[in-house]
Amino acid sequence: MTELLNGKQIATDIRAHVTAVARELRTAGVLPALAIVVATKDESISWYVRSIVKAAEKAGLEARLIELPPNSQTTDIEAVLGELAVDATVHGIILQTPLPDGVHLDDLAELIPPNKDIDGISPVSMGRLVLGHPAFVPATAAAVMELLRRHGIELAGRRAVVIGRSAVVGKPVAQLLLRENATVTVCHSRTVDLAAVTREAEVLVVSVGKARLVGREHVRPGAVIVDVGTNTDASGALVGDVDAEAVTGVAGALTPVPGGVGPVTTALLLQHTVTAAAQATGAAV
Ligand code: NAP
Repeated sequence: MTELLNGKQIATDIRAHVTAVARELRTAGVLPALAIVVATKDESISWYVRSIVKAAEKAGLEARLIELPPNSQTTDIEAVLGELAVDATVHGIILQTPLPDGVHLDDLAELIPPNKDIDGISPVSMGRLVLGHPAFVPATAAAVMELLRRHGIELAGRRAVVIGRSAVVGKPVAQLLLRENATVTVCHSRTVDLAAVTREAEVLVVSVGKARLVGREHVRPGAVIVDVGTNTDASGALVGDVDAEAVTGVAGALTPVPGGVGPVTTALLLQHTVTAAAQATGAAV
């Protein structure tokens, strides 16, 4: 039996908590607000961003969508981020990727003040994460950990393998697993004999972006698998990086795609925003 680690109920619970905190903040005279800076016409990104705006408004937050033309220059985005950084009515900032050609996230991420960096992309946030200091961590990485925690998955002393080393998922997840005292291995495109490494994993986190990369041969019997990947297969269906059909019966537990990491990520972005608003204003909530 492979247990499905559903994210939808967890996301609903987090959003209910966020709604309650946002209500308290508004009562204290603070309207929690996040700003999302977008400079792409990518339809799937527009859909994702609209879903964050909708969820934010439903929870009683203000969501400001700042749409820039897809041919924007680094200086255009710098100017917007500069204004948001000093705007006391904005508590959280998301700089959505992909960015226009020739514009690099590394040049912009440090313009987001750590106290507004609700998706944990600035070098300061990442440094604090590595050192174990308080910081906002990337929402997707936080969602992976929240799924494991709320499903009661024990991590201390267990072998964890992360496939993927992106700044938004693989690297922060590895750090967070380490913080929970797992023994962590990180795999990537140059890993030799991936299946031999992943078969060691009692907990396997996959964030690659390749449909059904992980099959039965990669999985240790009973392993807990968190599938971060979101890919569109040949038939247009949304599928993960794990071949769910192939690993069913071998894995002990698996997050579904869709309905696993994705909804929890969005809910945590809202949670980080109300936390940022409470910290910035000193509101006792
Ligand atoms: P990314 O920046 O594209 O990085 C992919 C990683 O996978 C890289 O570290 C790469 O290795 C590694 N890789 C590529 N091919 C591999 C292979 N054959 N074997 C082992 N490792 C391999 O990825 P990302 O931003 O983490 O995103 C990954 C997936 O997660 C995408 O499908 C994305 O859409 C999804 N995602 C979902 C959410 C959500 O909330 N659900 C959020 C973020 C991302 P190298 O470093 O060596 O190149």
